[in-house]
Amino acid sequence: SEFVKEEFSRGALRSKTVEDILTPLKDCFMLSSTAVLDFSTMSEIMQSGYTRVPIYEEERSNIVEILYVKDLALVDPDDCTPMTTITKFYNHPLHFVFNDTKLDAMLEEFKKGNSALAIVQKVNNEGEGDPFYEVLGLVTLEDVIEEIIKSE
Ligand code: ATP
Ligand code: ATP
Repeated sequence: SEFVKEEFSRGALRSKTVEDILTPLKDCFMLSSTAVLDFSTMSEIMQSGYTRVPIYEEERSNIVEILYVKDLALVDPDDCTPMTTITKFYNHPLHFVFNDTKLDAMLEEFKKGNSALAIVQKVNNEGEGDPFYEVLGLVTLEDVIEEIIKSE
């Protein structure tokens, strides 16, 4: 709304970045692409309470897909469906943003409606080797809204 937009751009939030508010990678509930959607995995997903589950390959920093809990509606745990069967079928786009993205820009991105979750990465050029993309965590629309509310 216009009100939120005005409050948002007036406040200190304009200077905050997604890195300031993200959920760190170590705290993210994610699953491996090799997971099998059996009873135990499906229970774990339900119990996590999250709507979106990043799926990684080999290591947690390598997020390759995203599973929405609603994708499980037609999955029968007795079939032991491989995770990738479902993620490849729905193929939800992954949304990456850089760590220095300001919250007002992030809000605009979310408003475009592609997704309500973004994976935050930065260019790491600290070491000896070539710079690489380092995943820091994830940020959702809810995190941004929480900042708006906090600032009032
Ligand atoms: P929704 O509210 O759309 O059902 P949700 O409850 O799964 O989704 P959000 O409301 O978007 O998640 O976010 C709530 C908090 O949980 C935010 O701080 C967000 O960063 C965090 N979050 C979202 N998904 C995950 C996840 N898979 N693992 C860990 N934290 C997450
Ligand atoms: P190259 O190094 O060969 O030029 P690249 O590494 O620059 O390629 P991509 O391979 O397109 O670029 O992207 C690397 C990672 O960054 C991928 O995970 C991709 O999804 C992600 N990415 C792509 N576009 C963006 C963007 N606008 N902001 C943040 N991350 C992005």
